[in-house]
Amino acid sequence: MPPSGDGGKSLRRMRSGWGDPLDEAAAYLVSKATVRVLRGDITDQDTDAIVNAANSSLLGGGGVDGAIHARGGPAILAECRSLREARWPRGMPPGEAAATSGGRLRARYVIHTVGPVWQGGGAGEEEILRRCYRRSLEVAEEHGIGSVAFPSISTGAYGYPIDRAGPVAIATVEEGVARHPSIREVRFVLFSSFDLAAYSTIAKARWGR
Ligand code: ADP
Repeated sequence: MPPSGDGGKSLRRMRSGWGDPLDEAAAYLVSKATVRVLRGDITDQDTDAIVNAANSSLLGGGGVDGAIHARGGPAILAECRSLREARWPRGMPPGEAAATSGGRLRARYVIHTVGPVWQGGGAGEEEILRRCYRRSLEVAEEHGIGSVAFPSISTGAYGYPIDRAGPVAIATVEEGVARHPSIREVRFVLFSSFDLAAYSTIAKARWGR
């Protein structure tokens, strides 16, 4: 259900159903898209695409990557191998993105992107992270995808501080939905209450009324 319009930006809040009253999901109208911030598991999402925080090998790993391959089944890995052979024999560079099918997931597509490994902030990490969100939305548009769910890229094993990654994610998605009006819904799916609180604070400050 879209949020009510109030000239561009509006906020609506509801209980997410995860049991913790602090885990509130919120939805904002940003350009023509609904952007939701919620706690959950990315592999449960019923958006057209979910984004994988992959590593350069594209051959699977832990965290989000492991969960997506475990639940999506072997078809995703087979397509990742083909992508490696056809486009990135030495691995997908950080900041790039490419789509495979969603295998057994509810989502029709998985968009694989490789985030930056945090090295203290002076190694171009912010620009690479921005490219991850930008390229993922470009790939979504190229595939006619109308709704996309993102995890918090790079803030797990790759060590990017969430209070620095969140503003980059949110600002870049704002630019992306303005540039790609065919993308009608974006979700930020956060795995913990702590991560949800970080993104919620940033989103509310930027889009809330
Ligand atoms: P990266 O290597 O890019 O840091 P990770 O998968 O290690 O990627 O972690 C990225 C974020 O995704 C972390 O905040 C982690 O808690 C979260 N995460 C892990 N599993 C899931 C999942 N199934 N759904 C959504 N988020 C998840």
